[in-house]
Amino acid sequence: MRGKQQQIERKREREILLVALGGNALIRKGEVGTVEEQFRNLKVPIKQIARLSGEYRIIITHGNGPQVGNLLLQQENCSLVPPLPLEILVAQTQGEIGYMIESTLDSELMLLGTDMQKHLVSLISYVVVDENDLAFREPSKPIGPVYTAEKAAVLPYPTRNTPKGYRRVVASPQPVTIVEKREIQSLIDMDFIVVCCGGGGIPVIRDGRTFCGVDAVIDKDLASAVLALEVGVDIFIIATDVEGVALHYGRPYEKFLRKLTVLEAAKYGKEGHFPAGSMGPKVEAAARFVKGGGKRAVITSIETIEEAAEGRAGTEVVL
Ligand code: ADP
Ligand code: MG
Repeated sequence: MRGKQQQIERKREREILLVALGGNALIRKGEVGTVEEQFRNLKVPIKQIARLSGEYRIIITHGNGPQVGNLLLQQENCSLVPPLPLEILVAQTQGEIGYMIESTLDSELMLLGTDMQKHLVSLISYVVVDENDLAFREPSKPIGPVYTAEKAAVLPYPTRNTPKGYRRVVASPQPVTIVEKREIQSLIDMDFIVVCCGGGGIPVIRDGRTFCGVDAVIDKDLASAVLALEVGVDIFIIATDVEGVALHYGRPYEKFLRKLTVLEAAKYGKEGHFPAGSMGPKVEAAARFVKGGGKRAVITSIETIEEAAEGRAGTEVVL
């Protein structure tokens, strides 16, 4: 018993690394998202995470935008079965993507040798949101397929004209707390690699002593920041499809930053450098993490997760 306790103590000493994988870890721009494509793409971040698991205790979170979009499209083109609400689709994709991440990680760990074997677990996770969150008054997050104006006008839910065309919009409330935080904490203390908070988690509101799912989506980077603070993560890496945070992104004079203070982040954010649907929540999540006492937060590309952990790539958000 004592030996086991000592083993747990020793594992606890290793720093905790949380990697939040963006949608492009599975489906890259321009791809349709076949299962083969998704498994192939996943190898890039997962190989690195497998190696990092020798040094760190690991939590993996992930997006689900393209996968939920595909499920919505399937539902709309099939009248034989009843459509499922968004919270159920989020739960489905947590299972789907959790399985793909776990099986890829399992193979990559196997390739590293028997002493690198780890226990893996994917956790269906709910995240509490506040029913009075102002986001419920004005749904703003576009999800699913693009419609013509005529079709959008007859859909049973709110839509908005986005740069891609008309899309359904849902509320994107702030994450308040991760329901399974204690379970996640215990699992990482036992050196499990935990995949959780997929798609930002299944949004739930408190209903007396229980929880009730709501039709909304939570930003996965913001949910990851809440989780990171709740379970005492040391290093928070947000992995996406650009090398880091830029000023004047997409312009000829764009400038990638290696460091960004939380004050600069707020200032540049106000100036419009970080759009709401993409870089905005990443910068916000990284800033919240360091303001909340987290050690390091880095926004980097899927290809450079290991370098980012070592401080050699990406944009580090600092106090
Ligand atoms: P993910 O699926 O990883 O969450 P997003 O598409 O939501 O990725 O966000 C990453 C995208 O943010 C990049 O592909 C880039 O096009 C966009 N972006 C917007 N503003 C910036 C900026 N200031 N610096 C870097 N990337 C930016
Ligand atoms: Mg995103």
